[in-house]
Amino acid sequence: THFGFETVAEAEKEARVAGVFSNVAASYDTMNDFMSLGIHRLWKDHFVRSINPGSSSTSPSPGWTMLDIAGGTGDIAFRLLDHCTNINNSPQSTITISDINPSMLSEGKKRSLATSYANSPRINWLVANAENLETIESDSIDLYTVAFGIRNFTNKEKALREAYRVLKPGGVFACLEFSGVTNPLFDAVYKRWSFGAIPLIGQLVAGDRASYQYLVESIEKFPKQEEFRDMIKEAGFVVPGKGWEDLTGGIAAIHKGIKP
Ligand code: SAM
Repeated sequence: THFGFETVAEAEKEARVAGVFSNVAASYDTMNDFMSLGIHRLWKDHFVRSINPGSSSTSPSPGWTMLDIAGGTGDIAFRLLDHCTNINNSPQSTITISDINPSMLSEGKKRSLATSYANSPRINWLVANAENLETIESDSIDLYTVAFGIRNFTNKEKALREAYRVLKPGGVFACLEFSGVTNPLFDAVYKRWSFGAIPLIGQLVAGDRASYQYLVESIEKFPKQEEFRDMIKEAGFVVPGKGWEDLTGGIAAIHKGIKP
């Protein structure tokens, strides 16, 4: 706006998110297991299988150029590469793991050393804001993934437009994110868990209540299934079927879009 209010609020949110993820980087993976009772691993496995990266009508596959945004400690990226290599005979597939927070990427690099991708030329690490991917060429990416990232972005529409720009025609946008629990009874139980237990676990395990409080609130504020699907369409994507798949009663959902 003329008065710069939006910019101040945006800068504040960005700083806040940066603080949260710098604080949680080292404990991030353990905390995910605690908070989701390990279920996030099943969601991530399912997410990757549903995308079937590296698939092709020829074998060996020519290889996909993938971009994992808000890639954090590499949880999604390593799974994508594994799937390309082991399921689709696509050892040529490559991935850029991008995150706004260098501490999260450092944890990811450390983790990669314990995998078969240690110092692999198939992985490229990039510090970038999802809302501005200027170093990535337009129409250059086969698959854009974002898992548990987009709800932290200040301007989600802008990030979706950037996703659209960098994807090749026919390229796939795939998002795994917390969403809306559809059953009211289950929702009540879930809300008790998330608002009650998660900040407490954050305090006990990571010594950081505020960051986990923020995470829970950001889940609550994020658009629910239909609204997010419409935002994806609005950015220009064609949305297959109803546009999303609920996981564990809607605690999380997978949304997809294809660039026409
Ligand atoms: N995708 C990983 C996973 O599923 O385990 C990490 C998810 S973590 C909850 C969210 C990540 O989003 C953090 O690493 C944070 O730094 C990153 N992030 C927040 N705002 C961002 C932005 N504007 N652009 C890029 N990454 C951002």
